[in-house]
Amino acid sequence: MAFTLPPLPYAKNALVPHISEQTLEFHYGKHHQTYVTNLNNLVQGSENESKNLEDLIKMSAGKADMVGIFNNAAQVWNHTFFWNCMKPNGGGKPAGVLLEKINASFGSYEKFAADFKQAALAQFGSGWAWLVQEGDTLKITKIANADLPMVHGQQALLTCDVWEHAYYLDYQNRRADFVQTFLDHLVDWNFVEKNLV
Ligand code: MN
Repeated sequence: MAFTLPPLPYAKNALVPHISEQTLEFHYGKHHQTYVTNLNNLVQGSENESKNLEDLIKMSAGKADMVGIFNNAAQVWNHTFFWNCMKPNGGGKPAGVLLEKINASFGSYEKFAADFKQAALAQFGSGWAWLVQEGDTLKITKIANADLPMVHGQQALLTCDVWEHAYYLDYQNRRADFVQTFLDHLVDWNFVEKNLV
């Protein structure tokens, strides 16, 4: 069964003024769609056609002859996850169980936010900053290109896309401002908490 672009969990103008409708038209409507289209072209008519997205990602990870499938399948998964990490009027300090876990792993929300921002800025070139769960501990990682926590034995909790296409129309070269805005105004902490295992 062919993959389709999952619907956005909000309208394309719902994240204005932090992320413009134009950015979502390109980032969701063009970039995310292209990964879906490329993946369908790569698996159509092959034995991989019936596999689900996670199976394709896990099967192709680290395999030199399946780089195309991995990159496109992982980018489909990453973008769907990223859209769900945001909501209008989100961001700021979480509460409840999630805040307790953040405090236990990082000392405070403020230290978590500083470390997450640092990881997002330190990712050289294209990639993603992640909050992940490993056992009972929360960790921040930065990984390049399409790479993602599920192939590193980690549970994804939160991600911020730091490919230039994620922020260039709205923030140009100011990745730090984009990441700060993501933390202060966009993160859907309810979604993040639901990802805890
Ligand atoms: Mn992207």
